[in-house]
Order: sequence, then C-alpha cells, then structure tokens
Amino acid sequence: MTATAVPTDESRTERFDAVIVGAGFAGMYMLHCLRKLGLSARVFEAGSDVGGTWYWNRYPGARCDIESLQYSYSFSEELDQDWEWTEKYAPQPEILAYARHVADRFDLRRDICFDTRVTALAFDEAAKRWDVGTDRGGRCSAQFCIMAVGCLSAANHPHFEGFEDYRGEVLHTGEWPHEPVDFTGKRVAVIGTGSSAIQSIPVMAPEAAALTVFQRTPNYAVPAWNAPLDPNLVREVKADYPGFRAKARSRPTGFYFPYNTRPALASTPEERRRQYEECWERGGLPFLGAFGDLLFDKEANDTAADFAREKIRERVDDPGTAELLCPDNVFGCKRLCVDTGYYETYNLDHVTLVDISTRPIERFTAGGVVAQGVEYPADTVVFATGFAAMTGSFDRIRITGRDGLTLAEKWRAGPQNYLGLAVAGFPNLFTITGPGSPSVLANMLPTIEQHVDWIADCVAHMRDIGARTIEAQEGDEEAWVAHVADVASISLRSTCSSWYVGANIPGRPRVFMPYIGGFPVYVQKCNEVLAAGFAGFVLDAPASAPPRVRFTERWQEALDPDVLSPADIAAGRIPIV
Ligand code: FAD
Ligand code: NAP
Repeated sequence: MTATAVPTDESRTERFDAVIVGAGFAGMYMLHCLRKLGLSARVFEAGSDVGGTWYWNRYPGARCDIESLQYSYSFSEELDQDWEWTEKYAPQPEILAYARHVADRFDLRRDICFDTRVTALAFDEAAKRWDVGTDRGGRCSAQFCIMAVGCLSAANHPHFEGFEDYRGEVLHTGEWPHEPVDFTGKRVAVIGTGSSAIQSIPVMAPEAAALTVFQRTPNYAVPAWNAPLDPNLVREVKADYPGFRAKARSRPTGFYFPYNTRPALASTPEERRRQYEECWERGGLPFLGAFGDLLFDKEANDTAADFAREKIRERVDDPGTAELLCPDNVFGCKRLCVDTGYYETYNLDHVTLVDISTRPIERFTAGGVVAQGVEYPADTVVFATGFAAMTGSFDRIRITGRDGLTLAEKWRAGPQNYLGLAVAGFPNLFTITGPGSPSVLANMLPTIEQHVDWIADCVAHMRDIGARTIEAQEGDEEAWVAHVADVASISLRSTCSSWYVGANIPGRPRVFMPYIGGFPVYVQKCNEVLAAGFAGFVLDAPASAPPRVRFTERWQEALDPDVLSPADIAAGRIPIV
C-alpha cells in the first residue's frame, strides 16, 4: 500500500497551527493529540510511510531490545487490548505493522506528507510563526514547530579512502532496502560491532559464503532468550494493562523488570555469581539491574565485566577470537547489546573477525576492503556504523530562530536547551525526546508519550490564556544544561567514548547528551514546571488562568521506592540500563 496521503501543493503557502517533522512514534502521537485539541497540523516525513526507526532499519534480525509488551504506546487501553505481539522482542516487520495499524486506526495518514524532507525552518518574528521549507520546494507556515526527528535517525556514513572505487553492493543497517537482500553465496563484509551488527551478523552469516567483521571496539552483549510470547503472561498483563504501565513509568528506565538495589560489593563472590547467573538466564538489558551500583562504582562494575567476559570465552571456541571479542571497558558504558547467537557465529569456519582497534581500515578497493595490509574481498559491504545520534537530524535542517541565530551555531559546543523540550531563542519550537531529556536512556515509547502529552498541555494552555509565543529563558536553560552534565558525571557511563557523548562522529564536541537522572525524576520536574505556569519559560500573555492538566494527568508516578532510596535519588545515583 502506498502511504502518501497528502498531495503537496508547491504553488502556495499553506498555514497550519502546527508543523510536525517526522512520522515515527513521536510524530504520530503528536498529531493525534493536536487533533484532539482541534488544531490543524501537518506532518512532514522523509520516508514513504510511518514508523521512523522501524521503517528505515529493515536489516535482518532487527527487533526491539525492550520487551514488546512494554515497547508500545500506552495512551489507548483499547489499542493495548487489541494488539497481539507474537514474540518477547518483536521483529522489525511486526513493529512496523504496529505503527501502520496505529496510523490507520487513528486515521493519521491524511495529515502526513510522505517522501518530503524538511530542509529549513525559520522563525518570522513579526508574524510570530515558523516558515517551513521542504526538499520538494514547498513552503508552509505554522505557529508551532514540533521536532519529532528521532534520536537515532541520521545514519553515520564514515568516509574511507578509495570508497568511490568499490564496485560491490553497499548497504547501511539504518537505510536498509525494502526488497529482501539475498546474501546466498556472497562474500559479505560488515563494518561495526554495535547493536545493529550484533543483531544482523548471526542472521546474515548462515546465508553468506564468507563473512568478515571489522571490529574497532568490542561490545558487551547479553542473550535475549527471545521466544514466542507466553499466552499466560499476555493474559496476566492485559488483565491490568494500566497498572502494568504505571509500574513501568515509576522505574528509572521507564520499563519494568525485577531490580536488585543491593551493591555488588556487599555480596560475597558466590552470591554475586548466583545473582549474575540468574540475571543472565533472564537475559537482555535487565541484566544491568543485577546490582544497584554497577554504573557508579568501577570495582562493582568490574565484577559484572569479568562475568560477561567469562561468558564470551565460553561461547567462542577459538581463544584468540574470544579475546578480541572481550571488551576491556566499563560494562554497560556503551548501550548494552542484546544478542541471539552473536558470539557463536564466530565459531563458523567462514566467519572472520578483523581487529581494527589499533589500525583503522586502510582503504576500499574495487573488490573489497583492506585492513592490516590484507585485502578482504567483498561482494557486499554492510555499514553497521550507527548514527549521528541525538542531534544528527537537527544538523541536517537549517533552523533559524530569533535574530538570525541558527540552531547549529547555538549547539556548536553541544546541545543547549531547557528540559530537552525547548530552546531559548527558538520560540514555539519543541523537541520530542531532545538531548537533555531521558530519551535513549529509557524505554523510548513512554519518554515520547510523556513529551507529547506535556507539549499538548502547553499548547492548550497557550490557547486558554491567548498566548502566541512561549520561549525558554536562558538562565533556566543554562541551569538545566549544567544539571544534565552534573548527573552524568556521577555515572560511569560518562567515562567512555560512546555515541551518548558524540564520540562516534569525528569533530563532535564531547558532551553527555541524554539526561541520566531517571525517567520519573525527570517527569516530576516537567510536572512542576507545568504546575508553576511553565516556570522557566516566557509567555507573551499574562497567565490569566493556571494551566489545566489534560494530557499529562497520567504522568504522576513517583520513583518506585522499591528501586531507590531517597538518599540515592538526592545523590543522583539513579541506575539506568
Ligand atoms: P524515529 O523513529 O527516528 O522517527 C523520526 C522520523 O523523522 C524518521 O522517520 C525520519 O525519516 C523523520 N525525519 C527526520 N528528519 C526529517 C526531516 N528533516 N524531514 C522529514 N522527516 C524527517 N528504543 C527503545 O526504547 N527500545 C528499543 O528496543 C529500540 N530499538 C531500536 C532499534 C534500532 C535499530 C534503532 C535504530 C533504534 C531503536 N530504539 C529503541 C530507539 C528508537 O529510535 C525509538 O524507540 C523510537 O522508535 C523513536 O521514535 P521517534 O518517532 O522519536 O523517532
Ligand atoms: P553503534 O552502536 O554506534 O555501533 C556502530 C559501530 O560501528 C561501532 O562498533 C563503531 O565502532 C563502528 N564504527 C563506526 N564508525 C566506524 C569507522 N569509521 N570504522 C570502523 N568502525 C566504525 O550503532 P548501532 O549498532 O546502529 O546502534 C545504535 C543504537 O541504536 C544502539 O546503541 C541502540 O540504542 C539502538 N539499536 C537498538 C537495537 C536493539 O537491539 N533494539 C538494535 C540496533 C540499534 P566504535 O564502537 O569503535 O565507535
């Protein structure tokens, strides 16, 4: 089915209450809420359908790493009841089908303009509106501009010498073709060993004639133990889905799993092993919940890292390859990977691991990739090289605020914003899961919904009091940016060169971008700001009435006291997976 619903009229400037950039889960839900408020909205989407991440990342083995029963919208009890997930971790086609179902169910497509990339956004100070330009030459104007562009949506294409000479097929996991890719009999090279590579390598390898993996940094992976969903569990969850969602919201990660707050070093080595084995058997990201201090105390973390390395050595037959696959950095410092048969893939005779940690890939040739002085022939090269995370999709749009200031200039030394939601100097522009908010450090579906609900309440309040603009104040923005950096410095996560700090893209400033202080703590702050009449913002109308809580009513959970003590919260020691 072709998804294009809105014909673009390039000859005139259309006017909307709001323009939304992106039709992933964030843009779709934003449109739904604005419609409820009776606002006119237009969504622009570069892809040909809804789904965002799940539209673009069609590589073999792609699936969520947060359990499907939780990695899904929670705004509609009927949707929760009707939709049937088939596996513990849904595969990409099923998540995309879910996004498409939501689009149909809530009749979203008629306001979405597909195959259209927003290229420019400029604030017209006289009109107090945003002018929007697209790659189709179209223009429109809107009072509000809502960026739903995604945290992991700008693919990273590192440049390699001789790349232009390469004659084989080139794929990127984040821009995968829509037609099935057949690797049968092909020599495949994979660059990268992050989550996308770890999911796709075990699926590509059995088909390929030869598979060569170029590894710059090894990653830790915990088994997914993916399986068909147990109907009894589904029944249990659906019997009280709202209660289950509320429990998830009260967790620092925005999803629910058994959590042990005890420090690792307070346990005996035998107790620790038992706990690690138990968590390993449960699998996935919750492994990081084995002990409360794993991301704060290096010595505690070393015990988890040693355990994970032991597991790698057990799973990989060749000791040399096993050592190359063993990370020597902080466990869970980069996003923990969740695997199905990843390490065992290296036991196949036709799979080769090439260590490029000390000497990068030298160049491409017409027929392959050269590293360590050896040419590895390749019919297909898969770039599993990730994304310009958090700000990459903003960088690709010229966004001009007050006084001609561009967002790129403002963010040159790292993203500056208030609550990860709004930027001083850029009135009426909101960012869903922007840097400075929990976003990628939590289950992203609730982080998206909470932002959308907050924005919807904000816009509704502006209507109530007759305000035309809202803008973050610089002082509050600076204080928020400083707070985001402070809490990051408490976590070991800030110590390694991950995409969280922009280290995967040469030339980016090193700044820990997501907010690591915990989802419910953050939500509480957003609620306080709202209740205080949007404290930290300037509105261009007097507050004739206090804000009404319409959409954000469901975001009132405090941090689950079973997970954290008030002292930990005060100290900012909030464990995040
Ligand atoms: P996206 O889904 O990224 O959608 C943004 C959309 O904006 C895209 O469709 C893009 O084309 C469009 N866009 C961007 N710029 C423009 C422009 N200038 N003009 C027009 N359109 C534009 N998170 C989890 O919590 N759990 C998981 O298990 C999980 N798994 C993931 C697996 C992969 C492979 C990846 C890459 C990410 C994963 N994530 C996961 C993070 C995931 O990105 C979010 O969960 C969520 O899907 C983000 O939704 P979004 O709408 O905010 O952004
Ligand atoms: P990634 O984690 O950033 O991994 C990219 C890989 O490419 C890394 O191994 C990186 O090495 C390597 N690389 C980058 N540039 C390179 C270069 N010039 N030369 C050699 N190697 C290079 O990207 P990703 O795997 O796409 O995952 C990104 C995020 O998306 C994940 O962390 C996760 O949040 C999400 N995701 C989730 C799932 C899931 O399980 N649901 C699946 C995929 C993605 P270095 O480490 O040395 O930089």
